[in-house]
Amino acid sequence: MSILLETKGLTAAAEDKELLHGVDIVIGEGETHVLMGQNGAGKSTFGCTVMGSPEYTVTGGKILFDGEDITSETADKRARRGMFLSFQNPVEIPGITLSEFLRNAIEQQTGKRIKLFEHKKNLAKAMEVLGMDSSYADRELNVGFSGGEKKKAEILQLLMLRPRLAILDETDSGLDVDAVKTVSKGIEEYRKSVGGTLLIITHNAKILEELRVDRTHILSNGRIVREGDGSLALDVLANGFEKYLGEV
Ligand code: ADP
Ligand code: MG
Repeated sequence: MSILLETKGLTAAAEDKELLHGVDIVIGEGETHVLMGQNGAGKSTFGCTVMGSPEYTVTGGKILFDGEDITSETADKRARRGMFLSFQNPVEIPGITLSEFLRNAIEQQTGKRIKLFEHKKNLAKAMEVLGMDSSYADRELNVGFSGGEKKKAEILQLLMLRPRLAILDETDSGLDVDAVKTVSKGIEEYRKSVGGTLLIITHNAKILEELRVDRTHILSNGRIVREGDGSLALDVLANGFEKYLGEV
């Protein structure tokens, strides 16, 4: 197994407050990992820091992607390497359609022009997997989309951009059962057709039951307090975090 993402003793701060206190995580190429933890544990901070969000400053440790030290690289460059982060609250972008947005994003990431005809064909295929009506392609990005539709649009990005690593930050929160099913299906398709690697931040039982999880990490107060296989995630869902906190 080759390692795709590794953080070594990662510490990060925002507004002079240290929020991550030495996080070590190793994710092999093609694996699916789950990151869990109570509200405020630092899960989103970790995802954003790995992606190079300017909101957080790395104060110590390293981030390696595919063996290369990317700790001080811009978010832009990381995206071009094939790193992807879905946001907890997707933004609305008036004036640009979903289709245009995706074409732009793909061209920026690959540095190559893509023919409109080819783009539309790929888009239609991906939308079909997600059960999205084709009319969404020509709607303004996320404007007037319901919560479920926004999340579908995000998973659509995953299938179109085909990143090597996808970090999904509570992509499933607030979704109804059918939307969660669609999200799981999209994730499954991403794994199958792209061979992608996933770090999923979730508390969603349905998603966890449907995915083959290779490894679970539990974060508490900016520290990893427990790691295990997929059964750990299910145990946390059934019994809560209490018994895993304060283990370190
Ligand atoms: P989680 O995603 O696990 O719920 P977060 O990573 O969002 O937790 O937040 C972890 C802690 O860091 C919280 O106490 C939060 O208030 C704080 N925090 C997150 N982002 C910032 C920021 N930009 N500035 C100051 N504090 C922050
Ligand atoms: Mg969060």
